[in-house]
Amino acid sequence: MKDTFKHKGLRQQLVDVIKNKGITDTNVLKAIGKVPRHLFMDSGFLDHAYQDKAFPIASDQTISQPYTVAYQTELLQIKKGYKILEIGTGSGYQAAILCELGAKVYSIERQLELFKKTSKFLPKLGYRVKKFIFGDGYKGLPEEAPFDGIVVTAGAPFVPKPLLSQLKIGGRLVIPVGDNVQVMTLYIRNDVKEFEKHELGEFRFVPLLENKN
Ligand code: SAH
Repeated sequence: MKDTFKHKGLRQQLVDVIKNKGITDTNVLKAIGKVPRHLFMDSGFLDHAYQDKAFPIASDQTISQPYTVAYQTELLQIKKGYKILEIGTGSGYQAAILCELGAKVYSIERQLELFKKTSKFLPKLGYRVKKFIFGDGYKGLPEEAPFDGIVVTAGAPFVPKPLLSQLKIGGRLVIPVGDNVQVMTLYIRNDVKEFEKHELGEFRFVPLLENKN
């Protein structure tokens, strides 16, 4: 599969849609304009790749809506070289956006099929994720902590404690919390035991599954 001028044009339109929905971070918008989202989806959905919608991928999971990816990424306030942990690798689209922003990305996925597929696919596109982990995101990644940012890309019924404790001072956790509908929640670690919490808009994600690994 290729990236063509047609795809680039569609991507630019998508950037405009996301901008109109309120994303202002120019680096995030640039990244959305660069990552060839159509290559992350099964061929049957190619025509839909540049609509601002979530779509099904393997293992009954979804590639998140571009606006949602942009929104979560903007909240992380990434600078080049930041160490970022992603929970829920899925298609790898969010991980690719993080790479475009110059982050050192660690990404955990609990579905073996997706883990295998995406860890092979992303390097082919030139996205060098530091480490793909097949495992349970509820535990975070203690051996690589602390992180400048952690982003959870599935709906969490509660905030896993290990994720908060694996943040650097000043680090940010972006996590959608709730069962049927999730509230995007941002935690900023101001000090060892002091966290600032912001509850933002409502979103819908596939569930962050527990004890299944
Ligand atoms: N970031 C992905 C979104 C995928 S949907 C993308 O850009 O495409 C959420 C992903 O979270 C799914 O792939 C699902 O399998 C994974 N997931 C669910 N529970 C998990 C857990 N406990 N640990 C790690 N990954 C999990």
